[in-house]
Amino acid sequence: MNKVIISMDKAKNFRVYLTDATNMVEKMRGIHNTTPTASAALGRTIIVTALMGLMLKGKDDKITAIIKGGGPAGQILSVADSTGRVKGYIENPKVDLPLNEKGKLDIGGAVGNQGTLTIIKDLGLKEPYIGQSQLVSGEIAEDFAAYFAYSEQQPSSVMTGVLVDRDLSIMAAGGCIVQLLPDADTEVIPKLEERIMAAPSMTDLITQYNDIHAVLNVIFEGFEMIIVEEKEISYECDCSRERMEKALISIGKQELERIIEEDGQAELICHFCLKGYLFDKTDLENIIKEVG
Ligand SMILES: [Zn+2]
Repeated sequence: MNKVIISMDKAKNFRVYLTDATNMVEKMRGIHNTTPTASAALGRTIIVTALMGLMLKGKDDKITAIIKGGGPAGQILSVADSTGRVKGYIENPKVDLPLNEKGKLDIGGAVGNQGTLTIIKDLGLKEPYIGQSQLVSGEIAEDFAAYFAYSEQQPSSVMTGVLVDRDLSIMAAGGCIVQLLPDADTEVIPKLEERIMAAPSMTDLITQYNDIHAVLNVIFEGFEMIIVEEKEISYECDCSRERMEKALISIGKQELERIIEEDGQAELICHFCLKGYLFDKTDLENIIKEVG
């Protein structure tokens, strides 16, 4: 579990979602056994998606982010709900590139920047909301900021970072989304932009202060910030045998019969937590009976 603070300046010009998500990203790394580059790419994505999940109103609302950048990392997918649960996967968890010219993990090179960020919001309506924007750099934060600007017409600033230790564990990971409120005083914008530009990186802030309230005060120094709400986010998978069974039902009787004949059983692995579900011959035959 990691704490998220939702805050706003006293004059109600902008709202902030801020988190130290170090434990959450470490849990993700433990499951997917990612290289440092993949830890950072997927880590950044799940952090921002988890914060966007908290923006949803309905209890059962869900948000999915799909990044297809054409790079060696392959597709990245992340799903979050409004209660703070998030899960995700990266197509190539072993992606490994030399450091970039700034001496940093080459996330943009791994993800690629020739492609799209797609956001699907399931709000319990007949049709989900689907928005899409072109990737800017594949560095994740800017790509989400572009999505907010172009697809939702919501001026936003997105900061996120993941710092990997020598032993590959996550040393620090965090994220911050800043959004202008509808009646924001336009004179405040340059001052706010200046603060955001001048702020150290998320991982520097977390490493140095190790306290999310202190980080908030450092980034937004000069503004009187009020805490609106405190929430929690965590990496959790909600897969189950029932869900896997539904997936098997959906492939149809003929295909199930072929599996019984050729393999005698089916093992399904969850993309998000890598848990395996084994269905033996009897299980499969029972499913066929259900299909009818
Ligand atoms: Zn799972």
